[in-house]
Amino acid sequence: MVLDEPKKIEFMKRRRLLFTGIVQGVGFRPFIYRLAVRHGLTGFVQNRPDGVIAEVEGTEEVINAFIEAVPAGLPPMADLSSLSGSDVPLCGDNEFRIIASGKEGFPEVHIAPDIATCPECLAELFQKQDRRYRYPFINCTNCGPRLTIIHDIPYDRVNTSMSCFPMCPACLAEYSDPGNRRFHAEPNACPVCGPKLTLLNGRGEVVTAHDPLEQANKILRHGFILAVKGLGGFHLAVDAANDEAVQRLRRKKYREEKPLALMVRDLPAALSLADLNETEQELLLSPRRPIVLARKKTGKTILSPSIAPGMPDVGVMLPYTPLHHLLLKDHFPALVMTSGNQTDEPICIGNREAIERLHGIADFFLVNNRDILVRCDDSIATVVRGKTSIMRRSRGYVPKPLLLENHYPPVLALGPQMKSTLCILKGNLAFLSPHIGDLETPQARDFFHETLAVMKRITECHPQILACDLHPGYYATQAAQQMEEAANGEIILLPVQHHHAHIVSCMAENRLTGDVIGLAMDGTGYGTDGHIWGGEFLVANETTFTRIGHLKEFSLPGGEKAIRDPWRIAVSLLREAYGPSWIGIAEKLQLIPDGTHAEIIERMIVHGVNTPPTSSLGRIFDGVSVILGRRRHVTFEGQAAMELEGAARKGSEELLPYNILEENVLQLDLGPVIRTLAEKKIHGSLSEPLIFSFHETLAKAFAEMAVTIRKRTGLNRVVLSGGCFQNKILLEGTIQELEIAGFDVFSHSIVPTNDGGIALGQAICAASLRERKL
Ligand code: ZN
Ligand code: ZN
Ligand code: FE
Repeated sequence: MVLDEPKKIEFMKRRRLLFTGIVQGVGFRPFIYRLAVRHGLTGFVQNRPDGVIAEVEGTEEVINAFIEAVPAGLPPMADLSSLSGSDVPLCGDNEFRIIASGKEGFPEVHIAPDIATCPECLAELFQKQDRRYRYPFINCTNCGPRLTIIHDIPYDRVNTSMSCFPMCPACLAEYSDPGNRRFHAEPNACPVCGPKLTLLNGRGEVVTAHDPLEQANKILRHGFILAVKGLGGFHLAVDAANDEAVQRLRRKKYREEKPLALMVRDLPAALSLADLNETEQELLLSPRRPIVLARKKTGKTILSPSIAPGMPDVGVMLPYTPLHHLLLKDHFPALVMTSGNQTDEPICIGNREAIERLHGIADFFLVNNRDILVRCDDSIATVVRGKTSIMRRSRGYVPKPLLLENHYPPVLALGPQMKSTLCILKGNLAFLSPHIGDLETPQARDFFHETLAVMKRITECHPQILACDLHPGYYATQAAQQMEEAANGEIILLPVQHHHAHIVSCMAENRLTGDVIGLAMDGTGYGTDGHIWGGEFLVANETTFTRIGHLKEFSLPGGEKAIRDPWRIAVSLLREAYGPSWIGIAEKLQLIPDGTHAEIIERMIVHGVNTPPTSSLGRIFDGVSVILGRRRHVTFEGQAAMELEGAARKGSEELLPYNILEENVLQLDLGPVIRTLAEKKIHGSLSEPLIFSFHETLAKAFAEMAVTIRKRTGLNRVVLSGGCFQNKILLEGTIQELEIAGFDVFSHSIVPTNDGGIALGQAICAASLRERKL
C-alpha cells in the first residue's frame, strides 16, 4: 500500500532503538506503545534479553520528537541507563504493536524496587464509584509491590506471590489491554479476585468483623498495639499521640530509648511535626517513600514525648501502600510504625511467623493472604547540604543496581557484622541487598542466608570470588570461610580491611578511580595490626591502601563493654590527656558511677588488662559526651553521639587546641581538646557551645591533616566515609574546611556512609585485587 505514495517514502525512516536499565516490569512497553501511537509512528516494541527494543517508522522529524519525549515521560519505576539507535530498512508496517517476549533468558533484566501507590490509584481508592473503592491492594504498572513478591525471574505473575490469585475477567481485560494503565501489571487485583484482609487477635484467632479495616482503626484508637502486614514486612503500629500506648509498645519491645519511626497522613501532617525544607519534602513525597530524618518541631505538638526522647530529629514517612492510606485517612495524623520484630531480629514477613515472634507484643494482627517473599525494611534517608543521604538502603531502593565506572568480574561481598548488607558485582553494576541488620542473633543469621539466596537468584549470578571483612570473629567472615572450604578450590576468598572498604564504597558511588585521600571516621573496624581502628587517614585506591595517619590511640577499658558505658571511655581519654592525675579531674566532673573505684580502672589501663587500644572517633564522641555532663550509660550504639550532635549550639567559644604529630605515620592527638573541654566544664562553661566547637575543631583538624597528606603525596581528592559522617554538623563542617583548603571533596549520597555501604567497597576491592592478581 505504501507503493501508492512514493514521494512520502523518501522522507520516511525506520530506526531501531535499544533501551537498557530498569525497563521491564515497570510499564515501559505500554508507555512506548502509547507514545508511538500518539506520534503516529508504526513499528513494534519488545522485551529482549538485553533490555527493550523498539523499531519506529515515520519521518525523521517525528522520530526525533518521539525519542526526545521518552526521558520526560518515563513511567515512575523505570530507569533508563542507556538508549542507542541505528537506522534499519523500512518495513511499511501499518500499526504499532507490542510483540510478546522471546522465550530466551533475561540475564540483564532488572527487578524494580517496590514503589508507593501512585496518584491515579490513590484517586481510585477513594472514589466511591470505582470497583476498587477502599480496596487495600490496588496497584498498577506505575506502583505497587515488586521485589517483595518475587520468588524468581523473569518477572511474570507465575513467579510472584500473586500466582495463586487468578485474575477475574475485568482484571484480565485491563491486564491484556496495551492502552490500559494495568497492562501487564503483574500484581493486578481487585476485591473480586485479589488478596483480602483478615483481623486476628493476639493469639492468632480470627476476629470476625464486617470490615476488618474499620475494626483495626478502632483498635488503634483505643490505644492497642496492632501488627500490620505491609510491603516488605510487618510493622507494629500505635497511635503516636497516645503516650501511654507508645510507652507500652516500648516496654513490650524492650526498646527503651531508640527513636520510633512515624507514618503521617500527608505532607501538612508531616510539617506539623518536623521542620522540613524543600528537599526534605521532596524526599518524603518521592515514590520510594523512605523514612526521612528531620529536625523535630520545637514547641507543642500532638506527639507523645516518648517517640524519640532526647533526640533532635524525628523519623517521618508517608503512607506507601493503599492499606496505609486507608488506616490513616480520617483517623490519625500520625501512627508509630516501627519494624515488627524483637530487638536485634529481622522484620517478620509470614502471618504465622508474626503471630509466633510478636506474641506478647501485638494485641491484634491485621494480615492478608498475599505472601511477602523478600524481607525489606523501611529505608532511612536524610538531607545534607541539599543532597539526599541514605542511611539505610532497603525498601524502595533495593534491588536497583548502582552504575559503576568500570566493568568487574563477578564478586559476592558478604559485608560486615553490624548493619549488614550483601553486594553482588556483575559487569559494571553493583547490586546491594536489602538491609539485614546486626548479625548477632540466629534469626538475623538465617535472614543473612535467605538474602544471599535471593540476591543470587534475582541477579542470576553465582560468583566464584568472595569478599569479607578482616575481622576473624564476624559471622559473615566465618560464613565466607565455610563457603570457601566447601568449594574445594573453586572459590577465592579475599578479605578487605573495614575502612578501606568504607573509602572504596564512597569512591564507587562517586565513580572515582585511582589514588585518593580517604578519611574513614567510624565506630569500630578491625585494623591490619589487630587494633580497633576508627579514625583513619588513608591513601587509598580500589586495590590497596596505606594508613598514612590516624587519631592517636587510647584504650577501651572493659573492651566492648565500653560502648554501653561511655563513662569508661571518658575516663580513658582523661587518663591519656592528664596521666595519673586524671582521677582528680574525673572526680570534679563526677564521671565515675558510685561503687566503682577509679584505682581499679587506673590499674586496668596501666597493666593493659582488657583495655584494647583504639583510634575510633565514634568512641571519642561517646567519651566527650560524658565529659560534657551528658549520659554515662547508653542503650544503643551511637546514642551518645546522636544526642551530642543534637545539643550543639553555636556560641562564642573558639576552636580548641590539638596536636598533629608528624612522624612516619601522622597522628592527630586530641589530648589538648579533651583537657580544654574538661577544664571549661569544671569552670562552669555551658556545654552546648563547647559541643559545637568540638565539632568545628574536628573539621579544622581533619582539613589540616589532609593538607599535610597532600604535601606528602600531591593528592587533592578527599573521600569521606564511615559512620561518624552521619553526624551532619561534622560532615558539613569537614566538607567546608576541606573546600576552603582547595580540595575536591566526595561524600556519600545513595550508599550509606555507615556499615550499610561496606559490602560495596569489599566487592570492588576484591574484584580489582583479582584483576591485578594481587
Ligand atoms: Zn498505580
Ligand atoms: Zn479482579
Ligand atoms: Fe564502619
